[in-house]
Amino acid sequence: MNKTRLFQQKFFRTKYHEALLTMQSMNLLTIPTIKKTSYDAFISQTASSIMLRRGMTSLGKTQGKLVILGSGWAGFKLLKDIDTRHYEVIVVSPRNYFVFTPLLASSSVGTLEFRCVVEPVRRYSPKIQYYQAYADSVDIKKQTIHCTSNLNNKKDKFTIQYDTLVVAVGANSNTFGIPGVGDYALFLKDISDARKIRQRVIECFELASQPNVTKEEIPGLLHFAVVGGGPTGVEFSAELHDFITQDMARLYPDLINLVTMTVYDVAPQILGSFDQSLRDYAIKKFTRKGIQIRTGTLVEAVNERHLVIKDNGNVSYGMLVWATGLTDNPLTRAMGEYIIKDQSAKRLLTDNYFRVLSKDDGMPVNNVYAIGDCASIKDYDLPATAQVANQKAMHLRKSLTRIAKDGGSFENVKPFKFTNLGSMVYIGEQKAMVDLTSTNVKAKERGTLAWIFWRSSYFTMTISLRNKILIPMYWILTWFFGRDVSKF
Ligand SMILES: Cc1cc2nc3c(=O)[nH]c(=O)nc-3n(C[C@H](O)[C@H](O)[C@H](O)COP(=O)(O)OP(=O)(O)OC[C@H]3O[C@@H](n4cnc5c(N)ncnc54)[C@H](O)[C@@H]3O)c2cc1C
Repeated sequence: MNKTRLFQQKFFRTKYHEALLTMQSMNLLTIPTIKKTSYDAFISQTASSIMLRRGMTSLGKTQGKLVILGSGWAGFKLLKDIDTRHYEVIVVSPRNYFVFTPLLASSSVGTLEFRCVVEPVRRYSPKIQYYQAYADSVDIKKQTIHCTSNLNNKKDKFTIQYDTLVVAVGANSNTFGIPGVGDYALFLKDISDARKIRQRVIECFELASQPNVTKEEIPGLLHFAVVGGGPTGVEFSAELHDFITQDMARLYPDLINLVTMTVYDVAPQILGSFDQSLRDYAIKKFTRKGIQIRTGTLVEAVNERHLVIKDNGNVSYGMLVWATGLTDNPLTRAMGEYIIKDQSAKRLLTDNYFRVLSKDDGMPVNNVYAIGDCASIKDYDLPATAQVANQKAMHLRKSLTRIAKDGGSFENVKPFKFTNLGSMVYIGEQKAMVDLTSTNVKAKERGTLAWIFWRSSYFTMTISLRNKILIPMYWILTWFFGRDVSKF
């Protein structure tokens, strides 16, 4: 350290010490004892203490306000890891928690309790600010976001300003405009959906047990239909089958032989993204369990009691779960007026740095990013998965830190490259499939070993220590005592 720097530090140390003592005497500081420590310690003590007193969040944030819309895989990963020394972080999301979607199907049948698969956003307060609200629209020129509170008795409108915006609002389930789906089908996107499914399964069994129900009505009530033969539909069917055969069979022995389960898909095969041999294995296992697979089948309409199948008439059902396809949500639809969208998937189109592209000139908008299911990179098609959303969020976090360190310059930011880590799917009765054929490893595994891998991978990926304790605890409880069948 040179002499001038030493002199500066000594000088400032004395001055800061005097200033701190004065501020403390004026009751402006919260530091209990002020010692002559290092220059850096003085600076950080003063700054953090003043911030605490005044509730300020932006002191020293060179990059200003970073607003993150959404608290799903993409938004939550970013808000959790972003360097708040550079950015004043504001999160806007209608739900104040993150949902660990790979274990949502387990929670919908009670293998896990709902609490095990959520993480509260507020855990990261006061490092970040949070508003429970929907973002309705974004004014890119004025750098403002118009929001509506999402609280029971409060639907207030308010506007917030941003310097940098990250859109991570995910996508909605696609009903493809099929009449009745929105009214009568259940979805599996959020914890509230999982709760509805669990209640409905139990309700179907209770309805079928009522004294005045006719024999003809029972098979319809106990027909569980799933539309969508992708990983979500297959995993849910597998979990539901476990629940019915392991728990409901014991509690409703007279009804169990009347239960049917069907997976419908308009595509010619289920699990289209998996290796052919694994697909065949899943079909064999499902068929053996008695789960019917109806591929190449179009559901034309849905009413309160029936699915209307093209060329096949009406099929009664007790519960219908719709697990097929995604479409844009209202915010990304509204942004489509001035941002280029991928026409087929209806996602916001971005460059390799996740910057959205303006409709005016096709150029990237420098301070507006889109990641996760609501966005796709131009000429770089990636699936709408948690894996992609997570990697995009990690990359964006690095880019934003780089920009902050380089004083706002974009020069050293690297383009995104996806690393495919393979796919996994649970197929029931403690069996799963792991497909790494799309990676460099070229491996695939199925059966119980794959199930152990499936469970341990997701267990490792859970975020909080609380859930790392709760999840294995519920797995063990379910193993010993079965799933809870109370309906409330
Ligand atoms: C049951 C299920 C199982 C899955 N299993 C896997 C799996 O095993 N592996 C895998 O890779 N992928 C899996 N996926 C897919 C994965 O969950 C999604 O790809 C991932 O959630 C996308 O992350 P996201 O952050 O873009 O969107 P989401 O996680 O959907 O989050 C969107 C967020 O935006 C919020 N939001 C919505 N509208 C607004 C608005 N207007 N303003 C502000 N906030 C808004 C929402 O409340 C939510 O917090 C699964 C999906 C489901 C449904």
